[in-house]
Amino acid sequence: VGAAVVCAATAGRWARAAAILKELEEKCATPIGKLRHVADAMTVEMHAGLASEGGSKLKMLISYVDNLPTGDEKGLFYALDLGGTNFRCLRVQLGGKEGRVVKQEAEEVSIPPHLMVGSSHELFDFIASALAKFVASEGDDYQLSVGRQRELGFTFSFPVKQTSICSGTLIKWTKGFSIDGTVGEDVVAELTKAMERQGLDMRVAALVNDTIGTLAGGRYNDNDVVIAVILGTGTNAAYVERAQAIPKWHGLLPKSGEMVINMEWGNFRSSHLPMTEYDHTLDVESLNPGEQIFEKLISGMYLGDIVRRVLWRLAEEASFFGDNVPSKLQVPFTLRTPDMSAMHHDSSSDLRVVANKLRDVFGITNTSLKMRKTIVDICDIVAKRGARLAAAGVVGILKKQGRDTVAGKQRTVVAMDGGLFEHYTIFSKCLESTLSEMLGDEVSSHVIITHANDGSGIGAALLAASHSQYLGIDES
Ligand code: BGC
Ligand code: MG
Repeated sequence: VGAAVVCAATAGRWARAAAILKELEEKCATPIGKLRHVADAMTVEMHAGLASEGGSKLKMLISYVDNLPTGDEKGLFYALDLGGTNFRCLRVQLGGKEGRVVKQEAEEVSIPPHLMVGSSHELFDFIASALAKFVASEGDDYQLSVGRQRELGFTFSFPVKQTSICSGTLIKWTKGFSIDGTVGEDVVAELTKAMERQGLDMRVAALVNDTIGTLAGGRYNDNDVVIAVILGTGTNAAYVERAQAIPKWHGLLPKSGEMVINMEWGNFRSSHLPMTEYDHTLDVESLNPGEQIFEKLISGMYLGDIVRRVLWRLAEEASFFGDNVPSKLQVPFTLRTPDMSAMHHDSSSDLRVVANKLRDVFGITNTSLKMRKTIVDICDIVAKRGARLAAAGVVGILKKQGRDTVAGKQRTVVAMDGGLFEHYTIFSKCLESTLSEMLGDEVSSHVIITHANDGSGIGAALLAASHSQYLGIDES
């Protein structure tokens, strides 16, 4: 009798778990029809954001980049990349058409978490001091023309309202940054003051978003790059727009007739987005409730935490991990997306990686194979929803550019970067196959996705070169 009671209880738990899982699957479903609605809504919002300031959730920010790298860029340039959990300093010697990238060096520094929520002064001092050290290590094989000031491309991966190619004010923080006193300030002025405090003589020649940097870096390697997408801690896209198609732009029409737009697509939202109760609570409890909804469904900062929330509910309502709810399940962001990815990619027959992650991350031991399989299924549902939505976003841009049909048969290259794209293989594969599914064989054979590896750093340096204060002055 005892065994039968235990058996019935177990069966009851599994039934509840199955119901929770089924609900998750249904709520996260992204059939092709739904994705088409998302893509269409993206195109509509793009138009609205270009029409007027504040016309849409999509800011469609003007980058002041109206010319992308040509290959002629020459000289020694620096780049600073601030945006996720790390920041990078880069030094590059550009040799023009023949020389290309003659030499480059980079250094990555992780940002102490307390600086992400501290004061503006502290953050910029920390960055400027790391940059000063990096500049001090410049070897003799780098050549700065006599009498010139060093110049920098500053990649700042947050929404910025640019006032020129080398100035702009922060609109809001995203991705776990929350620093008082920076919103509304010119981030180039902040950095410049901090560099002066460090005794570092350097001029910011270009202020760019990481998507803009990636687009520039991508274009340097391939002339057909017209879109850049970042899938990392956060997510965003930039693309080349016709200047004539930007009603809110009242400046002179650039000679090129083009303007690169930073969409800030992370802030996209639409009634067509498949949202669950887990997404709603994640949003409500986040540092930026109501903001960056698309980003919260897609990007690396959040995917792991969505999975954690599902596991927590399974523990609470279906005693999934036994009679007690493991306490770490309740702690936000304990399950990081790289750990989720490792579980999702576990190819061992007994799902050993899943077992180890559950032990190391949550202190959960003694899981059955069936339980571990369920957890892989949850990762699959959450990751694929994100990847498919990102693909729909790309289709929205292609539509806006008129590149979603076979008409011109022009080659269209999308430069992608970010840890999620680079390391979460199932995610990137799913994104690519969804893109083909949505575009059809013929169109998708003209649309190419490339990995612009750290393109944003080199892209920022290239844009610093093409906006150098010494432009037009003869190279000595
Ligand atoms: C920011 C964007 C950035 C993206 C990827 C988002 O949170 O708002 O400016 O491009 O993350 O780094
Ligand atoms: Mg990279």
